[in-house]
Amino acid sequence: MRVPTIIVHGGAGADLSDAPDELRHGVRAAAQAGWQVLASGGSALDAVESAVRSLEDHPRFNAGRGSVLTVDGTVEMDASIMEGDRLECGAVAAVTRIANPITLARRVLESRRHVLLVGPGAIQFARSSGIAECAAESLVTDRQRRRHAQLAARSSAADGGTVGAVALDRHGTVAAATSTGGTAGKHSGRVGDSALIGSGTYADSSIGGVSCTGDGEAIVRVVLGSRALHYLKEADNPDYAAKVAVDLLVEEGRGQGGLILVDWRGRAAYAHSTPLMPVAIMSPTLAEPRVPF
Ligand code: ASP
Repeated sequence: MRVPTIIVHGGAGADLSDAPDELRHGVRAAAQAGWQVLASGGSALDAVESAVRSLEDHPRFNAGRGSVLTVDGTVEMDASIMEGDRLECGAVAAVTRIANPITLARRVLESRRHVLLVGPGAIQFARSSGIAECAAESLVTDRQRRRHAQLAARSSAADGGTVGAVALDRHGTVAAATSTGGTAGKHSGRVGDSALIGSGTYADSSIGGVSCTGDGEAIVRVVLGSRALHYLKEADNPDYAAKVAVDLLVEEGRGQGGLILVDWRGRAAYAHSTPLMPVAIMSPTLAEPRVPF
């Protein structure tokens, strides 16, 4: 029997000058949602899905409702989820009109047929798996509309606010999940690390799990999720592995960002090169989620 743990993030590059309590409250509620699942004996996969759904529903984060807009002013979201016992994974990219892309990614995982579905095909799959479409407008917040207007002159920018969760359950299964609207002002059809198993998300129950955030192109360049778990396996030290992985992102990937980790023993860690990455951690020794920012 393992000691369950969950860690969630609300994106590298988040801006504390603007309503920091909203960010704290958002990640705390997500950790609690995931923890409820773990504490009642539920699976790590259910826990990370539930934590990420809570952040997708929160308009302050760049995932689900509140996603950043493409250069054309539309929402296109990426998400991925992985269970580390059998390396089962599912992901969706460039999806529209879905309130909780992480649940759609979970359905792809459960299909056991494909790993990644994109665009209209992913929406067709959502329909056939009973996931209702929402109105495209319902995902767009005034905050992102304003940001889009300001950004019109620039090409694209990582906005922070991407969300992710990594958990270990009492049976020793590790799972990880990531969801995002991508980078503000991105080209339509652009897919980032958050949809890519091995880059934005990875889990192997014999090592641990990871969810990344930041400059997606840089994260893909160094296959950050998989490299972070490689460091974790070598060093058996989650804090060190998180830090070295972020150094790799900055030095070889030539980008900024951060990541959260849980190892197979339930030790959680995080690191970021950006000034802020909202994080919340919950485990049985804590009365309520620790929110270290
Ligand atoms: N990594 C995400 C992407 O590139 C953005 C972020 O984490 O802020 O799509």
